[in-house]
Amino acid sequence: MLDADRLLDRLLHSETIVYAIYDLAGRIVHANPALTVLTGRSESELMEMPESSLYRRVDDRAGWPSQVRAAPEGTWVSCERVLNRKDGSPLYLRGSAVLLGDSIHVVEVDVTEQRREEEALTEETGRFHANLLRMQIVHSIGSQVVSIRDIDALMESVVGMIRTTFGYRATSVWLLEGDRLVCKAGIGDDPDWKPKGLSLPVEKGVIGAAFRSGRSRLVPDVSKDKDFLFHPSMPNAKAELSVPLYGTSGPLGVLDIEAEHVAAFDEQDRLAMEALSDLLGVAIENARLYQELQSDNARLQQMDRLKSEFASMIGHDIKNPLSIIRGYAELIGQMPGIPAGLERTSGKIVSETEEISHLADQMLTLFRIDAADVSYSFESVDVSELLDKVTPLADDRHPMVLDLPPSLPRVRGDRRSLLQVMRNLATNAIKYSPAGGVITLRAVPEGDCLVRIEVQDQGVGISQEDTPRLFQKFQRIWNDATELVSGTGLGLYICRKIVEDHGGRIGAVSQPGVGSTFFVLLPRT
Ligand code: ADP
Repeated sequence: MLDADRLLDRLLHSETIVYAIYDLAGRIVHANPALTVLTGRSESELMEMPESSLYRRVDDRAGWPSQVRAAPEGTWVSCERVLNRKDGSPLYLRGSAVLLGDSIHVVEVDVTEQRREEEALTEETGRFHANLLRMQIVHSIGSQVVSIRDIDALMESVVGMIRTTFGYRATSVWLLEGDRLVCKAGIGDDPDWKPKGLSLPVEKGVIGAAFRSGRSRLVPDVSKDKDFLFHPSMPNAKAELSVPLYGTSGPLGVLDIEAEHVAAFDEQDRLAMEALSDLLGVAIENARLYQELQSDNARLQQMDRLKSEFASMIGHDIKNPLSIIRGYAELIGQMPGIPAGLERTSGKIVSETEEISHLADQMLTLFRIDAADVSYSFESVDVSELLDKVTPLADDRHPMVLDLPPSLPRVRGDRRSLLQVMRNLATNAIKYSPAGGVITLRAVPEGDCLVRIEVQDQGVGISQEDTPRLFQKFQRIWNDATELVSGTGLGLYICRKIVEDHGGRIGAVSQPGVGSTFFVLLPRT
């Protein structure tokens, strides 16, 4: 037998591949066993049956018998049809037909299974695209709201956008305030539904449950959920989806949607709302931070204003009258023949006014330093000259000694500020030394780049645990030896700031009851 004959023989007897012959009118004149098996009809039932009553079209293409007739003889025409089985269930057949003489030959196979898989795939692809679209919407909402700085406006626009893009019946945002969740914005089909301002304890409702658990709650039928809380403002609610809102610092509140029919939300809604709530959490936190920054800023500006008002008040209302009082007190003290008591009082007034004036100066320097409003004019400074200018501070009870090498590198600095540092250190050495304590002003080169300046006293000293506090603002060290000494706790802080602004370092080594050495390291010119 030739191959073609063998093939035809197999087709004629096949129970899986349909082989049928039609006349030119489209009536069956021969059917192999496969067609009888697939249709559930006997061969005699099939005979003379018109193609159109056995099959229906899958698509709207013209019936293939006419196409086959129209095609040149011997040309195969592909076809796909649904076979109506005797039991009514459809079968998809795919194959080809050819016109040979005055009959049409059809070969086709059952592709029902394959067709179902294709349909499932199409459905899956459709779902995938729908989700992609949702996520794009979520992303677009997120990117629009993340830059809104006003929290109320942020909430309003989020619920509005969710409603217009997803079409949910009712959407609301709830934020934690104390132990309650407060509705910040809500929008629904019913224009009278105005949940804004409503609040509920965190233990209540689906919203509360989602907040407490930190996980979204999808409730297909609220009548079956023990957490559901009926509210007269939303009487027809049937399904609910509550998604917690998180910021980096923890839970912030809940995003909630409700619908008026059971099973209105599915897993895709949950995913979309979860993604949206992540973005919303970030947006809320941004807006809060921005508001905090703004109020901090306003507070700082106000403090700044107060500071400069205070500084000018010190300058005008304290220092000026003080110098007048001091002038008068000096005049009185110098009057010939004044009683000894009055002379003592005038002397006291002079020293008190000096002290207040010194305090006022220190406050002014402090304001300028803290506001980074100090302008230095750097130049090459001779350290010996600088220390020379400090020696006049010595008094009868505290001799001052200069200990300088024959030559000393110059330092780079602002002359006035460095003098202020040295005077502060020398004044402290005097203040915190008993009568007779010698004060030594010393300077030596340190390494290749620095000059070390020291102010050494034989005073009360400082304990090791107090040393780290010395250079901090308003720090005074209280003990028996210092309690009678007046001071502000600002001098060393100002010294440190000035020295650091010069790229230098300040420190102290001390031994209680023996004395202290304060040192300053400054860069050479
Ligand atoms: P004050 O105006 O109180 O002197 P300072 O900032 O100059 O402020 O000094 C801070 C504290 O450091 C002082 O209150 C004092 O207790 C301590 N102190 C400063 N210099 C010396 C020193 N030479 N000897 C001992 N204690 C000192």
